[in-house]
Amino acid sequence: MNHPVTVLVVEDEGAISNLLGAILDAQTYRVLFASTGAEALSMAASHTPDIILLDLGLPDMDGMDVLIQLRKWFESPILVVSARQKEQEKVAALDAGANDYITKPFGNRELLARIRTALRQYERTCSSRYQKEQEFSVGDLRINFAKREVRVGDRQVHLTPIEYRIVVLLARNAGMVLTHEHILKEIWGPFSSDSQLLRVNMANIRRKIEPNPADPRYILTEVGVGYRMVDSEPAGGN
Ligand code: CA
Repeated sequence: MNHPVTVLVVEDEGAISNLLGAILDAQTYRVLFASTGAEALSMAASHTPDIILLDLGLPDMDGMDVLIQLRKWFESPILVVSARQKEQEKVAALDAGANDYITKPFGNRELLARIRTALRQYERTCSSRYQKEQEFSVGDLRINFAKREVRVGDRQVHLTPIEYRIVVLLARNAGMVLTHEHILKEIWGPFSSDSQLLRVNMANIRRKIEPNPADPRYILTEVGVGYRMVDSEPAGGN
């Protein structure tokens, strides 16, 4: 992007919005603030920010309703930044169209990394080039979409058709957490709800692609929420 990236911070607590403003300013983001749901909706429409950070506990309306309203037309990333820690609340926000969910208190670096990932992911899905992208790779894992081939280093991995589709779905959304329900619907259709099926397939995928399936590097578990394919290897490599 050539223009400065505009971030709309929706947050009613002054201390937190000041903190977010300082973190984002230092990264040359252009920052706008809204402290109520109504303000958030009108500012999203008038400024069309590149990304929205959305608190769920707002004075005039529930942040979930703001999210649902926004998703009727707003296509850019929305990251929920909330003190609500319950898994079902994260799942509900992700299923309502949030791109990611960060719980308070958050680490600055983690927050910035999630913002960059969401922006990169959005840019990718927008570019027609991405649709034709033939390969995904992270670490030693390499997926060739054209050949339907998965490799770890020099070794070719033999996945079942279902396992392959799960891996591709996660790779196409690398960096983002996909909820169990989202994955189930994408792979098995709108009426599937058998999360055991997903768990079994995931265990098999990990056995095939992970150096240590008990401590996965490529497909991470978001406990009670879903799975996330990493889009870059963590620095330091420990
Ligand atoms: Ca709040």
